[in-house]
Amino acid sequence: MISHANEIAESVKRILETIPSEVTLVAAAKTRTLGEIEAAIQAGVTHIGYNYIQEALPVIQTIGSRVTWHMIGHLQRNKAKLAVQYFDMIETVDSWRLAETLDRRCANVGKAMSVLVEINSGRESNKTGLLPEDVDELIRKMSALEHLHVEGLMTMGPRFGNPEASRPYFRATRAAFERLGGLNLPNVTMQYLSMGMSNSYRIAIEEGANIVRIGTRLFGER
Ligand SMILES: *Cc1c(COP(=O)(O)O)cnc(C)c1O
Repeated sequence: MISHANEIAESVKRILETIPSEVTLVAAAKTRTLGEIEAAIQAGVTHIGYNYIQEALPVIQTIGSRVTWHMIGHLQRNKAKLAVQYFDMIETVDSWRLAETLDRRCANVGKAMSVLVEINSGRESNKTGLLPEDVDELIRKMSALEHLHVEGLMTMGPRFGNPEASRPYFRATRAAFERLGGLNLPNVTMQYLSMGMSNSYRIAIEEGANIVRIGTRLFGER
């Protein structure tokens, strides 16, 4: 355990040294133990991402607001209330129905929530996220939701293949990010572009990402 904590600390430091200071590292924590997560925090991780509400809740309850919590997995509407209660940013809004539900849940508790819109840039049918051609319409509608602040875009990129194969999808997402920012819609500021994982984060940063979500390279193989 001790040596694994040391390995995690080394990995965190290495990544924090190699990414530009304006890029936020989100540690993708699915399947990791509390000890592993604490080791990452000790080493300088300040943002943690979870895919599943059920897995995240006990960890967030234990660790609390020492770090910023990102929802990075597909969010079901029946979990919107918990997501609003426990997370600081929801990166995976991909439908009007979800956006509307989140807004209502935020209104109930008087919270303003930072959200990103997830784009299925690789157009993979087994993946969540909005098709690129549908993003404008959703963001225009979301602009009317008082309790959600649309702060950027998130994408996974294609799951398979050489990380270099993700580059065109990252580039297209960056172009959408720039274009949407130029619309100057109320409640919409294109500040965060979340793309890149363990094998692709360097390419994502080259293509403009300022949030990277990294699991394996911090914690080891799952
Ligand atoms: C697991 C996960 C990551 C990190 O993946 P690694 O390849 O382990 O770095 C990033 N984003 C999302 C949405 C994930 O589910």
